[in-house]
Amino acid sequence: EEEKHKYVKGKKLGEGTYANVYLGHLVTSPSTLVAIKKIKIQAAYTEGLAPDAIRELKHLQELSHPNIISLLSVFSSKDQNLNLVLEYLPLGDLEMLIKDTEGVRYGAADIKAWMGMLGRGVWWCHENFVLHRDIKPNNLLIAADGEVKLADFGLARSFSDPYRIMTSNVITRWYRPPELLFGAKHYSGAVDIWSVGLVFAELIIRTPYIAGDSEVQQISLICQAIGTPSEDVWPGVSKLPEYTVPEPPTPVRGKDHYLATFGTAGHEGVDVLMGMLVLDPRKRITAREILEHSWWSSDPKPTKNEDLPRKG
Ligand code: ADP
Repeated sequence: EEEKHKYVKGKKLGEGTYANVYLGHLVTSPSTLVAIKKIKIQAAYTEGLAPDAIRELKHLQELSHPNIISLLSVFSSKDQNLNLVLEYLPLGDLEMLIKDTEGVRYGAADIKAWMGMLGRGVWWCHENFVLHRDIKPNNLLIAADGEVKLADFGLARSFSDPYRIMTSNVITRWYRPPELLFGAKHYSGAVDIWSVGLVFAELIIRTPYIAGDSEVQQISLICQAIGTPSEDVWPGVSKLPEYTVPEPPTPVRGKDHYLATFGTAGHEGVDVLMGMLVLDPRKRITAREILEHSWWSSDPKPTKNEDLPRKG
């Protein structure tokens, strides 16, 4: 009741599937800008997202980190809509930069800086037992100072109870890991790491790396690009509820293959990428291991925020 009177709602900034987003500011400080995200409860409910979204908002409110969007306040308006007051991030998202191949030029040092920010944000989520579950370039927003922040925590959920059965119908298809495509009910932070790997790959080649137009095709493209999940490389995989792979199986790609496509990331960058795209989630690199990798201290050093490329 109190909270909604602290903010003034301004012009519409954009529209998403489940929300309209407005610019806003503090009543007491008109220069303190915020983004007010008005969730379309009706639309969200028919998709079964609302109960989750509301219950899990507390996670975002508790996660305070430079690479995670801050949730300043939550209130409901008289139309019963749920309003999220978020940090205002005016410089767009990584998808805009990736797609603007004419206007935006960037290199290995810039990618390393963005991956560092993404890695630290994901590490902090996992350290606090929160899965993001929808990491993709369009959910990585850019602050005025160039900092990249994980946003759109609608699907975020705690994994502190590992035996809680979770739905596998999460994560935008292109960024969805094989364990979810095979219908695994128990999963871990490794789901986010797979998505981070695909963001890394996309930053390098500037086009989505594994872009299936159905779940079946997504699995088939993973087999081609990475290798076929089998009992040899991933014990237990064939027992997953929706396990099916195309014949004949493709061997898991080696470093030569990755160097040919992603060589601009350097040897150590390619090692990190390969660690993220390991099929067996138990063997996939963790957020902590990513941050401890020697890639960060090898050349080139990550670009400083103020020197990062921006949208035109
Ligand atoms: P989508 O993820 O489908 O883009 P969202 O509902 O998350 O939908 O956001 C809709 C649009 O609102 C975004 O494309 C972006 O332009 C804008 N937007 C969202 N969050 C913020 C924010 N924190 N600061 C500034 N603009 C935002």
